[in-house]
Amino acid sequence: MSDGQALARAYLEQQRLLGGDPVVLPEAAPAVGRSGGQAVEGSDSGTAAPADRPTASSSDLPPPGVSYDPPSGDLFTADPVSQAATVAAIADLVSGCTKCRLCEGRTHTVPGEGVEDARLVVVGEGPGRVEDETGRPFVGPAGELLTKILAAIDLPRERVFICNVVKCRPPENRQPQYDEIAACLPYLHRQIQILKPKVILAMGNTAAQTLLNTKQSLGAMRNHVHRFRGTPVIVTYHPAALLRNPNWKRPTWDDVRIARRLLD
Ligand code: URA
Ligand code: SF4
Repeated sequence: MSDGQALARAYLEQQRLLGGDPVVLPEAAPAVGRSGGQAVEGSDSGTAAPADRPTASSSDLPPPGVSYDPPSGDLFTADPVSQAATVAAIADLVSGCTKCRLCEGRTHTVPGEGVEDARLVVVGEGPGRVEDETGRPFVGPAGELLTKILAAIDLPRERVFICNVVKCRPPENRQPQYDEIAACLPYLHRQIQILKPKVILAMGNTAAQTLLNTKQSLGAMRNHVHRFRGTPVIVTYHPAALLRNPNWKRPTWDDVRIARRLLD
C-alpha cells in the first residue's frame, strides 16, 4: 500500500464487507470525507467506486447512491435486536414492541414469515387489514397476487421469506411515516443479516427507498441491480399497485425474472 488513497480504498472496502449502514451522499460531497469512512457505491453497480475522485461530479464517478458507513458498535452492545440469533427470536421481540405509535392500533404484529434458508427475501411496505388480523404478511388481495408472481418464477411462497418494512399496520393503510420506519428498521436489517439471502426483492417505493436509503423514484430504481450490504436488490412495483394498474404487470414480470436469474 503505497499511498494514502490506496489505504483509504482498502479501509472503505473493509467497512463495506463488515456490513456498515448504507447512507446517501449528498450531490456534491467529496467521495472521501466526513468521517472518512464511506465507500461510495453506484446505485446500479455492484462494485465499489474509486474512492480517490475529488467530487461526485467527476466524470466517471457513479451518481450519488448507496454507500456504506462503518458499522455501529453493535458487536459490543447488549441490544436485543442485534443479539437475536433467529428470525423467530426477532418475531418474539417484535410481538412486544412499542417503539413507535403503530403499536397502538395493531391487532397482531406481522414480523414476516418463511424458511430460514430462503434464498429470496421479499420486502413490502407494511401490513394491511388482513395481515393485521392474521399476523401473516401478504395474505390479503395484494398477497394473493404476490403468491401468483412467485409461483410464476417457480418460487413457491413456502420457499422464500416475506416481510415488510414496518411490522405493525398503519391506520387506514396510510404510508408508514419516517420515524416509524426508523424505529422498525433494525428488525428488518437483522432479519436480512440472519437470513443471508442471495437476492432481495423490494416491492414498491417504501421498501426500495428504505433498503437503499434513497429518495429516488421507483421508475429510476427499476432496471438496475442495487445492493444492500453486498446483497443484490431488485426493485419492482408493489402488488397492490398492480391491482390498481394492470399495465405494470408486464414490467413487474420482467423485474422478477431478473431476480430469478440472479438466483440461478
Ligand atoms: N402490503 C404490504 O406491503 N405488505 C403486506 O404484508 C400486505 C400488503
Ligand atoms: Fe415496533 Fe415496528 Fe410495530 Fe413500530 S411498527 S411498534 S417499531 S414493531
